[in-house]
This record gives sequence, structure tokens and C-alpha cells, in this order.
Amino acid sequence: MMRTPWGQMTVEDSHAHLFSRSFFEGLARQRKTEDVDSMVAELGWDPPPRSNAELASRWTEELDGHGVARSVLMASLPGDEAAASDVVRAFPDRFYGFFMLDPTSGDPIPRARRAFRDLGLQGLCLFPAMQRFSVRDEALWPLYEVAAEAGRVVFVHTGVLTVGVRARLGLPSRFDMSYSNPLDLHRVALEHPETTFIVPHLGAGFFRETLMLASLAPNVYVDTSSSNSWRRFLTPTPTLEEVFGRALDVVGCGRLLFGTDSSFFPRGWRRGIFETQCETLRRLGITTEEAAEIFGGNLARIMRPAGRAKAGP
Ligand SMILES: [Zn+2]
Repeated sequence: MMRTPWGQMTVEDSHAHLFSRSFFEGLARQRKTEDVDSMVAELGWDPPPRSNAELASRWTEELDGHGVARSVLMASLPGDEAAASDVVRAFPDRFYGFFMLDPTSGDPIPRARRAFRDLGLQGLCLFPAMQRFSVRDEALWPLYEVAAEAGRVVFVHTGVLTVGVRARLGLPSRFDMSYSNPLDLHRVALEHPETTFIVPHLGAGFFRETLMLASLAPNVYVDTSSSNSWRRFLTPTPTLEEVFGRALDVVGCGRLLFGTDSSFFPRGWRRGIFETQCETLRRLGITTEEAAEIFGGNLARIMRPAGRAKAGP
């Protein structure tokens, strides 16, 4: 439980990244080096543990230290599903395992099915700007169906996409932001009403489009994660309070998901983001029940859909 302006509350984080050893090995390969520990040391970060079980313990201690009940941990390189699976298997009641999928290579549909069915993962993450594809492409539609059948969610990163670790390691990020418009999800979400979609960072710059999308598609959820520095693209730059106020008006507290966008150690869980968002929502005068939904209730609900066989603990 965590202390909040509304009293003690169960808090779950809908957005954190799993920077596993295999994740860093993947980046090291792109950088043509094998020395993962020196590469991570250059970043000033703690070297990743040898085993995912150890990393899972580290994250558990981190969540315990803050009183966070549970967190999404997203494998953040295509092909790193096994790491997320290891973490979830080690502490099934503390984490929701998500995985990044590149639908442009390999066999994405069986891969997604296996991740949900055999690896116990709960969310499929698409980054259309990264691999330069459109979520509207009908070749992807079976993916949305696989997620719905498994009772799992599809996370779609829209808006401005920067991957801090890539920039700091001097790795190129040849992304294409023209695939980043949340409106691309409009028809997709309407044609797949059984699939739950999550748009992170309040659209990361496409705030208006995200609100339009969520107002028309009841199966679209929106996460509040990170510092939401995309506000600087708007004039006049809205305050976080204005942004959250508008999101509450249009999306409603039943579809907003608190998230931090935590990732590496020693920084660990980003408590400052939590405190800022608590304070912002307190000023907006939301009720205890509404806060409980945003800070964990909504996530818990969509992770354990009613009537699905694989209910959580
Ligand atoms: Zn993130």
C-alpha cells in the first residue's frame, strides 16, 4: 500500500521497462561490441544481473521499498519475450509481462500467440514508428484477434518516440513518426471491439488525437506515464493539471492508467512521477474511488478480464 492524498491505496504501475541482460546484449550487438558491462557502465547504470530471476528480485525489492503492489515490465527489444516471462514466472503476483513485437519480421502471429499462451505474457507492444509499419495494415489484424482471444492487451506507442538509451549509446534511431498518429487506431479499435488498446504518455504529443480516439473507441485506454514533456510542443504549453483535467473530462477516470516509465537502476522506480501525478490529481479534486481506479484499479481490471480462464492471483 502507498500513502496518497486519498489515504492508503493499492498502487500498480502500468508502464515500466525491463532492461534485461539480453536487452543490453541486443544493444551491444547493434553497437558491435560484446562487452555489455562496460557499455552499461558508460551510461552510469548498474550492470544487469546475470539472471532474469535476479533482476526480478531487484525489481521486487524496489517495488517493496516504495509500497507499489505491482508493475508492468515491458521487454523492450523485439525477441526479448523470454526475459519478461522469466520475471513474471519468478513473481507472478508482482508483475505483468509485456513484450515488444516487430510485426514486420519473422512470424509475428504465432510468436504473439506463443507469448500469451506459453510464456504467460499479458501485453503486446507495438512501436509503429520504430519498425515503420502502420497499425492499420490488415496484415496485423490477426494480432489484435490473438490478443482478444487470449484476453490480453495491445499497447501502441504513438506520438514522439525517443529511446534515450539508444541516443546515449550513439545508436541510430531511424524511426518514422508519420506512423505515429493515434487516429490510425480509430478503425482498428472499432473493428476489434474485443481488443483492449493502451496508448501511452497521453499520446506523446498527439494529445488532441488521443482524446478524439478515446472518446470514439471505448476499448482504448490511455496511460499517464513519464514527465509528459511533450507538452512543450503545444502553444501555449499546458500545465499537467490542464492536461489531466481535459483527459478526465474526455477519457474519464475509468480508462486512465497511472504509469511512471521507469526502466534502469540505480534510478529504479520513479517516485517523483507518482508524487507529481498525485498532487496534480488532488488539485483537480478527484474522489478516492476515482484515484483508486487510475492508480491501479483500471490496470488490474484489464489485466484480469472478467470471464477469462486465466484469472490472476
Ligand atoms: Zn516507456
